[in-house]
Amino acid sequence: MTVLRKNLIDGEWLGEAGSHNINPSNTNDVVGEYASAGPEEARQAIAAAKAAFPSWSRSGPLARHAVLKKASDEIMARKDEIGRSLAREEGKTLAEGVGETIRAAQIFDFFAGETLRLSGEMVPSVRPGVGVEMTREGVGVVGIITPWNFPIAIPAWKIAPALAYGNTIVFKPAELVPESAWTIVDILHRAGLPKGVLNLVMGKGSVVGQAMLDSPDVNAISFTGSVGTGKRVAAASVEHMRKFQLEMGGKNPLVVLDDADLAVAVDCAINGAYFSTGQRCTASSRLIVTEGIHDRFVDAVKERLDKLVIGDALDAKTQIGPVVDQTQLKQDEDYIAIGRQEGAELAFGGERLERETPGFYLRPALFLGSTNAMRISREEIFGPVANVIRVKDYDEALAVANDTPFGLTSGICTTSLKHATHFKRNSEAGMVMVNLPTAGVDFHVPFGGRRGSSYGPREQGRYAMEFYTTVKTAYTLAG
Ligand code: NAD
Repeated sequence: MTVLRKNLIDGEWLGEAGSHNINPSNTNDVVGEYASAGPEEARQAIAAAKAAFPSWSRSGPLARHAVLKKASDEIMARKDEIGRSLAREEGKTLAEGVGETIRAAQIFDFFAGETLRLSGEMVPSVRPGVGVEMTREGVGVVGIITPWNFPIAIPAWKIAPALAYGNTIVFKPAELVPESAWTIVDILHRAGLPKGVLNLVMGKGSVVGQAMLDSPDVNAISFTGSVGTGKRVAAASVEHMRKFQLEMGGKNPLVVLDDADLAVAVDCAINGAYFSTGQRCTASSRLIVTEGIHDRFVDAVKERLDKLVIGDALDAKTQIGPVVDQTQLKQDEDYIAIGRQEGAELAFGGERLERETPGFYLRPALFLGSTNAMRISREEIFGPVANVIRVKDYDEALAVANDTPFGLTSGICTTSLKHATHFKRNSEAGMVMVNLPTAGVDFHVPFGGRRGSSYGPREQGRYAMEFYTTVKTAYTLAG
């Protein structure tokens, strides 16, 4: 028996059954039933957020702190249950599901603290006797549109700063992961948010998301998802002269130099390329390896791949869960076929796996002998698929790493201080890792990339303030 989860509009849970979500580890398991909003509900949610803004934006820091802290405490207390539910609907492993839930709790805690640290500046004017104050104010109604691959952390890192800085919200989660979205909204609602401050509209991107893009009353949109949808968000936002922030795809390079510690490099590759079933915008899908270590590195990676336990996300022994759904599985398989057609050698995996329950299981795939010009090197696959590009030396490795339409993360495995330092300075990515996987970042520092990966101010940490506030400069004649 599943319970119907409804949308939250102006403080009321509303809606009839419209969709359900499926456990990708066991397609016979229906996780839940969810109301599906239409354009009218989206408009009501936007109107409610607009009406709630004047009061919420003027509420004192303590009111906002109380809600965010309470939400953080409840998420942390329920981390195992929420993490399990997340793993059940998205297919990441139990450990990853619980880890992501803890991260969401930490994000709410961080931004609870930020409400008490908000400050401005006061400077003397160039005109004697006049004072100038610079303060930050909430932007207004913020539309939050999120993808399926981090069902609780991404909503948390958008909702928490939006609320902390006095904005009101219309939140549209990805269709595949409504349970995690509903849970976070339920917790915040019960934590004492006034009606209309946070509205949840579950439903189709082309319907609910589009209604948000088309509304002149949405003052800012924070979007994470694919490049294609990001471009639509950008075009619609320019039309309405609204603020927007886009976090999109990646084709992140991991450079492995001859002098790398082999064990560290293999760990970075396995974790970065394949954990979370490769479904991370920060996944290292391009492994750029210099000649002297190439064969040893490839042999060691294949050995590790062979030992990985691929199975039901809810089984504690599983290291790689299923692909999220049939559409993504087809995309992964299509790219594996493209890689072979392009002449790369499929050296490991790439085939579907049968498990006790029907699910979208795929053996992680490794291509060798690929070039950076191939489609598998240039386009985001978003699955457990990586390709090795063999290079002569560090200079070629850096050039190949930077030759991409994306620029989210990059990594290098080396014991050379010179190359590590040079790479940090010259890698054209928003985040650079040395002897660490390209995926896996801290919650209290900025997150974002360049080129096709990101647009607008950074997310997370104190840098989130840039997007969720607008600056006011006030002049006073003191007399
Ligand atoms: P997607 O673009 O298909 O969907 C993202 C969201 O946009 C969903 O909520 C969807 O319903 C909504 N949407 C779809 N059409 C819309 C429209 N016309 N108007 C408004 N909203 C619409 O992306 P996805 O498949 O859910 O997520 C995978 C993508 O997300 C990958 O490209 C991945 O790299 C990216 N991603 C990026 C980051 C990052 O921070 N850079 C993090 C996670 C995921």
